[in-house]
Amino acid sequence: MSHFKPKLVNDPSEVADELFDGLIAASNGRCYKVGVRSIVKNDIADGKVALLVGGGAGHEPIYHGLVGTNMADGAACGDIFAAPAPNIVHKAATAVDRDNGVLFLYGNYAGDVMNFDLGAELAAAEGVNIQTVLIADDVAAAPPDRKQDRRGIAGLIPIVKIVAAASQTAENLDELASTARKACLQTRSIGAAMSPGSIPATGQPTFELDDGLIGLGMGIHGEAGVRNIPMTTADELTPMMLDLLFEDFENDAEVDALTAGDEILFFINSLGATTMMECLICMRKATEYFQSKGIEIFDVIVGPLVTCQEMAGISFSITRVDDELKRHWSLPCQSVGYSKMAGPDPVDTLAASDHASSAKTSNTGARVITTGAELELSKSSEGLTLAETRAMVLAVANAIIDAEPILSDADRALGDGDHGVGMQRGFRALIAAVEAGNPTELRELYQIAGNALLTTMGGASGVVFGLLFLVGGKTLHGATHFGSHELSHLLNQALGDVMKRGGAKPGDKTMIDALAPAAAAAIASIEAPLSESIVAVASAADAGKEASRDMIASMGRARVLGDRSLGLPDAGAISVSIILATMRDSIVS
Ligand code: ADP
Ligand code: MG
Repeated sequence: MSHFKPKLVNDPSEVADELFDGLIAASNGRCYKVGVRSIVKNDIADGKVALLVGGGAGHEPIYHGLVGTNMADGAACGDIFAAPAPNIVHKAATAVDRDNGVLFLYGNYAGDVMNFDLGAELAAAEGVNIQTVLIADDVAAAPPDRKQDRRGIAGLIPIVKIVAAASQTAENLDELASTARKACLQTRSIGAAMSPGSIPATGQPTFELDDGLIGLGMGIHGEAGVRNIPMTTADELTPMMLDLLFEDFENDAEVDALTAGDEILFFINSLGATTMMECLICMRKATEYFQSKGIEIFDVIVGPLVTCQEMAGISFSITRVDDELKRHWSLPCQSVGYSKMAGPDPVDTLAASDHASSAKTSNTGARVITTGAELELSKSSEGLTLAETRAMVLAVANAIIDAEPILSDADRALGDGDHGVGMQRGFRALIAAVEAGNPTELRELYQIAGNALLTTMGGASGVVFGLLFLVGGKTLHGATHFGSHELSHLLNQALGDVMKRGGAKPGDKTMIDALAPAAAAAIASIEAPLSESIVAVASAADAGKEASRDMIASMGRARVLGDRSLGLPDAGAISVSIILATMRDSIVS
């Protein structure tokens, strides 16, 4: 893509790991690396309530740049634009734990939620007490009555800063989670995009936006927002965006409208390519806007802190502060990504915690972690041998690796463009793991394959496709052959688990729309030979993938597109149909 400036990197597929090592070096001994890509502060006090943040790489300096003095205690870092895998989250959580609980605080994306929840389960099994508060500040992503569906964007900077300060003195996890919920409730953001960034591994843009247009409300990966408007001036765009934030406070029954006398933190973020000059020009207009409404700016943040590579765009975040939040804000902090000196001086500091209860809080943040379903024993003794099944799994992996451009294109149209690269990374790791592990049982083969996907892919699909193999594989316990019964058990068990974990139903325009009809076809043909059953299963998956064109996305990143998602198939559904078609070809030929 010639219009992108060249990136100064080495191997484009290694950028996440290499930037991470650079980040550790930049922390100059204050932080250390744990496991694959977890960063942890090296002097966390005993008994401290720990704060763990995290998310995909590529948005530097967040999230993993926010670990430091009076900032987060640790961060779990994913691959480019992909959630960190559960093992990374698990390692980070156990490393920051000081026996007084760990608060997970991160942006609300399906992939992050699934991976952090799995990581939390692993850490909880080792006795770590975890609560999660999700950051969902983007007002463009859903109306106020569906706030919990919003994605997390730049508002995370004031939120993480405040919660990190609070964590220095919090007595227990409940207290910290409650401050975090208050900071989240009082923080709203809106973004605008002018041109996309590019994905390092493909050089492709993260989204398409015609020249001369501004994507109002567009997310940090280029997820669609409110509407596209013609390019305009800073003085026109600034009040337009601020109006949307004010309207949101007004329309949300859980908070008061912003009115004269309210004090706010105001953050102008650059998405990467928008210059400080442009941000400051918007700041000038915003100050005028706030003055006209009698809103007092308690403090400001300006700069590129939540970025998407060389994306041109800005976002505005408002956090309404009371005495408690002001006190936490004013504590000095230092990290590679964000540092501030002490101040401004918050008034009424001594009485601060008494005022805390005056702000309304929401209880949407605390989440209950559930465990996997009971597993069934397979009984069939006909079908593929272990060696044949292994060859089939490797053929599937190669087909997915080859399909990278198709999957990338499909995800670029509806999501954030990383599905192909993520699947390629996962299935390459799968091949390496199967070859190195040399499984001696069917169940072991699938478990090795599933683990490789789950620990290397990240993203929503890392969990859903990891589970497809891992959970599906558990149903093969004791099976010596892969036949129609095994196929059916595998697909149906995986379907149940993925739906439970991810919350998607048939019709939501996800990979479920290919997997569910495939699983049903497997039940219907369970008594037929495998060579017949797999034909029915593959064609059901293909039909399901095609049917996903007519669905309006209501899960994953595409859900904010509404009926603009019509006409195109879901990327994950394409992957499922490729997996099953390759299984068919390898069984039938
Ligand atoms: P991410 O959404 O994290 O960028 P990918 O782009 O790799 O992850 O994968 C996107 C695909 O994941 C979607 O096309 C969809 O099929 C699938 N997906 C997303 N969320 C869910 C979910 N909650 N349940 C099932 N599948 C999902
Ligand atoms: Mg994606």
